[in-house]
Amino acid sequence: MSRVIPPGSTIGVLGSGQLGRMMAIEARRLGYRVHVYSPEKNTPTGQVADLEVQARYDDLDAVSEFAIGVDVLTFEFENVLSETINAVDQYTPVYPAGRVLHTTQQRLREKTFLTSAGIPVTPFAAIRTKEDLEAISQDLVPGVLKTTAWGYDGKGQVKVESMDDLPDAWAQLDCQEAVLEKFVSFEAELSVVAARGQDSAVELYGPIANSHANHILDVSVSPGGFSEKINQEAFEIARTILTELDVIGVLCVEFFLTTDGQLLVNELAPRPHNSGHLTIEGHIACQFEQQVRAVCGLPLGSAQQIKPAAMVNLLGDVWEQGEPNWPAVLKMDGLKLHLYGKKEARPGRKMGHMTILADSGQDAVEKAVMARKLLNPSL
Ligand code: AMP
Repeated sequence: MSRVIPPGSTIGVLGSGQLGRMMAIEARRLGYRVHVYSPEKNTPTGQVADLEVQARYDDLDAVSEFAIGVDVLTFEFENVLSETINAVDQYTPVYPAGRVLHTTQQRLREKTFLTSAGIPVTPFAAIRTKEDLEAISQDLVPGVLKTTAWGYDGKGQVKVESMDDLPDAWAQLDCQEAVLEKFVSFEAELSVVAARGQDSAVELYGPIANSHANHILDVSVSPGGFSEKINQEAFEIARTILTELDVIGVLCVEFFLTTDGQLLVNELAPRPHNSGHLTIEGHIACQFEQQVRAVCGLPLGSAQQIKPAAMVNLLGDVWEQGEPNWPAVLKMDGLKLHLYGKKEARPGRKMGHMTILADSGQDAVEKAVMARKLLNPSL
């Protein structure tokens, strides 16, 4: 049953990074108030919210009090404990539901769900004990050993070149529960950002082509330049996942397109995603607007693309030679600069991004990469 939470109401966000910030900006445009909860203060989301609450996620009294003060809750990063969500949803509706978070925040649960829904994933095996490690099939090596929980941007991952590397690799992950994934030889990485409303309507963006540097997203472009068959297949898989998980909100599906033309799901993120930032300028309604609409029980907006778009991330490295040359890029036609209000520019830290609209995806990528070089010529 859809309950409309009208503009003027208050949306609560668990997590206070750039995803919450960009959602809060859209929420405010639509006339909502935003409260944010996280263990930090003066955060990217807090800077643009009506209220910033600083408390731990496992402080269930504080999180319950926060929930009582808002009309609906959502989260902007998936490492919020599902216990936290379960503690608050008796007071306030939470979207996506705690159940979605529970499935997607743990690699093994996520892969088990995907496999049972008939969706192709990278071949893998679970490792919980020494015996599991000893029973690993040679077919999965070379592979990547990944902790099942709390991993992102390549953290908690160790490459395994040969069977002999396995014990050491597992020790590097403190012998925590892990999955060994076969190393996939891929032609491309792509994502579909998908939104589903309380009326079960679905809107899809992409497929977006993504390239990574040091395990962190570097450049995204849409359209991604894939065949119509791959586009339709990726959309179909995203639609199935949203329906099977009964997601209300935004969820990103990340894929590998293997060198033999197969689509495999790498992982799911039950929230707006870095690869979807280009939807802000590139599409009629962006991923953050869809999140607001979905959690508030409003109809989704149109995901129709206005123009080809490319996005480059700005990591702390851009600042390594001092203040980047902002005037140089702000002169460029079709460029939009987004900075997240983070004080300290550490290497590898996501500080902002730039999106460029152009006549083709290729043209947009070239301009976006060139623009980043103007900020810091050593990049
Ligand atoms: P993840 O945290 O699982 O998204 O992994 C981060 C990045 O590491 C991916 O975007 C890939 O570029 C690379 N990667 C992860 N798993 C694999 C795999 N099984 N085979 C090849 N590359 C991988």
